Amino acid sequence: MTDRPVLQMAVPKRGKPPRHFADLTPADRIEALKGIGQPGFRAKQLATHYYSHLTTSADEMTDLPADVREEIATALFPTLMSPVRSLEADGGETVKTLWSLHDNVKVESVLMKYPERATLCVTSQAGCGMACPFCATGQMGLTRNLSSAEIIEQVRLAARASRDGSLGEPVRLSNVVFMGMGEPLANYKAVMDTVRALVAPEPNGFGLSARHVTVSTVGLVPAIDKLTKEGIPVTLAVSLHAADDELRNEIVPINTRWSVDETLDAAYRYYSETGRRVSIEYALIRDMNDQGWRADLLAEKLKARGDGWVHVNPIPLNPTPGSIWTASDPAVEREFVRRLRAHGIPTTIRDTRGSDIDGACGQLAIKENE
Ligand code: SAH
Repeated sequence: MTDRPVLQMAVPKRGKPPRHFADLTPADRIEALKGIGQPGFRAKQLATHYYSHLTTSADEMTDLPADVREEIATALFPTLMSPVRSLEADGGETVKTLWSLHDNVKVESVLMKYPERATLCVTSQAGCGMACPFCATGQMGLTRNLSSAEIIEQVRLAARASRDGSLGEPVRLSNVVFMGMGEPLANYKAVMDTVRALVAPEPNGFGLSARHVTVSTVGLVPAIDKLTKEGIPVTLAVSLHAADDELRNEIVPINTRWSVDETLDAAYRYYSETGRRVSIEYALIRDMNDQGWRADLLAEKLKARGDGWVHVNPIPLNPTPGSIWTASDPAVEREFVRRLRAHGIPTTIRDTRGSDIDGACGQLAIKENE
């Protein structure tokens, strides 16, 4: 491969999105209301509209005086993102939406229906600086971080769409995975503010269970340690893809900063502090990382740290434009899984949705003309 993407740790600075309710602390909400001549107690009314009723529209806020509804909504709920288009797969049970942000930057999110619930795959950055060569987002480079309100809005809009039956029948959005575009732990503050809004009980948040929130990381070790100390028992997923540094340096460039062992040690610390079992993500790439000895090496490194602390999610590689790599042969995949299980490592092939609409793991990317 010639022009490989390169690691990009610095975040480009761009104009800020307009001030939005979801970005404000409780005290700032009261201040903002005062600024437009409204009493502070309206903050709770607005939180109920936003997090419980999932609305930002003035005409639905019938408990506010009719003559000020519009002014309040305009001041506190500016439009942060507009849908450009949606693509459906799996008979309408997977929907990928392309959003345009205030500065015309585009991002995607993917909503998936399961029996009686829905999961949102949320985007935390426009593009990504981590440069993994098999991931379409990694090829784009990093455009900018999303604000917490921009991430929270993806959740609100998805929760509303799920509730209103846009996935076929009304379901509750119960799970959020930070597995859309970007490296969530490289946008730490906005992601943590979002996580807090996800798990806070209504009306101060969406009231999701922390275990139904998954933060997926390429392995930013200091940020994993910081997450460990937050005391919010979200599910941590680590995108490992290789258990030896030689190969991981190639396919997950951040490994040149934090090695496989350092990454697994941080993942183990997360488990031992939170009690939450960690997921190891492993995209199976034909003849690259799918050899039987690599399954054995992975199992040994995981077992060396303890029992019952981890499970492995192999993901058949999804195709990305211009990539020479493909998914492993099904027999090779089966053997990889068999070996992990034979070592006693719980292993489940990851259900990956929406590959025919480029909405599956590693396929989210914005084309030039969009
Ligand atoms: N940056 C974070 C969040 C992205 S999550 C992370 O790396 O974890 C997207 C998941 O899909 C990651 O596990 C990523 O490694 C995986 N992935 C990327 N490209 C893929 C591809 N082409 N096929 C299958 N999985 C892929």
